[in-house]
Amino acid sequence: MNHLPNSLAQQYSAPLWKRLLARSLEKPSDLEEWLGAEIPYLEAVVRRYPMRINPYYLGLIQERDDPIFKQCIPDPRELQDQRGLVDPLAEERFSPVPGLTHRYPDRVLFLISDQCAVYCRFCNRKRKVGRKGLVTQETIREGIAYIKANKQIRDVLLSGGDPMLLETPDLEKVLRSLREIPHVQIIRIGTRVPCTLPQRVTPSLTRMLKKYHPIYVNTHFNHPREITKEASRACTMLADAGIPLGCQTVLLRGVNDDPETMRELMQRLLMIRVRPYYLFQSDHALGTSHFWTPLEKGLEILSALQGHTSGLCIPHFCIDLPDGGGKVPLVPEYICRAEKDALIVKNFEGIPFTYPIYRDDT
Ligand SMILES: *Cc1c(COP(=O)(O)O)cnc(C)c1O
Ligand code: SF4
Repeated sequence: MNHLPNSLAQQYSAPLWKRLLARSLEKPSDLEEWLGAEIPYLEAVVRRYPMRINPYYLGLIQERDDPIFKQCIPDPRELQDQRGLVDPLAEERFSPVPGLTHRYPDRVLFLISDQCAVYCRFCNRKRKVGRKGLVTQETIREGIAYIKANKQIRDVLLSGGDPMLLETPDLEKVLRSLREIPHVQIIRIGTRVPCTLPQRVTPSLTRMLKKYHPIYVNTHFNHPREITKEASRACTMLADAGIPLGCQTVLLRGVNDDPETMRELMQRLLMIRVRPYYLFQSDHALGTSHFWTPLEKGLEILSALQGHTSGLCIPHFCIDLPDGGGKVPLVPEYICRAEKDALIVKNFEGIPFTYPIYRDDT
């Protein structure tokens, strides 16, 4: 390789995930054949909400407007949204230092990256991701100092952006600092990389992560077609490093808002050793309203899963309250009515049963 100019030699020796990332499409005009006449308008969309589609994820698209296309290709409706909110979860209000949200007593959400492998069009932090200044060395230092000073914090959720887009040594620096804090019991990493850029999961990354156990990874798959050989390999490597894997799926109109797609997704997640954790109602973030589904849809999907497939397949269906109220799980109604000595409930097939109630005094 000596005869190659320096930058080229560097490109060839860079790990695959970095070469893929460097070849990401970031302008609508890179998608001439699909977007044609829409390009000028979509340039305006992308000035507001950045675009990035790496060649791996792009390769999962099979046709225009399919579930992969919808998740990553800019849409004119992003600028026409009249209903969304800029900070739908009021994360700023519960932010004692920039980039850290302390909403629940014993755990914090800590943003340590402003980059993602794909900028998802439905992202609830779409006003923040892909912008300089969201995360800096200074915000990371302040976040760690805050966690150190607040002894009730026993669970730290690293998020972003995508923490796994940090270089391995930079991510390790954060993990090492957190592990030096005695009251931090568990560290969770929220990352979409196993889905959107599985090549990022390398032996050196998993070797590093293993040193900081207990580490949990919550990933984010939304459609069965995202579960590829590469994704399976990435999840296997993480699971083999002893990391329990969960999935936080977002319910998205036209992507996964039907029981069959969701059942297949959840079943295939278990096959790659990922345990469904949350199914989120799409947050009311500005620029995302074309993805929203009626609330009943999530409950319908849950009823179609519960009892019909392995309990391990069933995530908690949650809404995240708009004024910083936090997450609330919603469950389908199984109770038909309560009588004095019995509860009338229906089972997963909709058949009513009487369940006797025995009280101490009866
Ligand atoms: C979701 C979230 C958490 C973690 O919630 P769990 O239910 O423990 O997974 C913590 N902090 C914030 C601000 C969150 O949004
Ligand atoms: S990977 Fe996560 S944080 Fe990044 S754009 Fe997608 S949903 Fe948003």
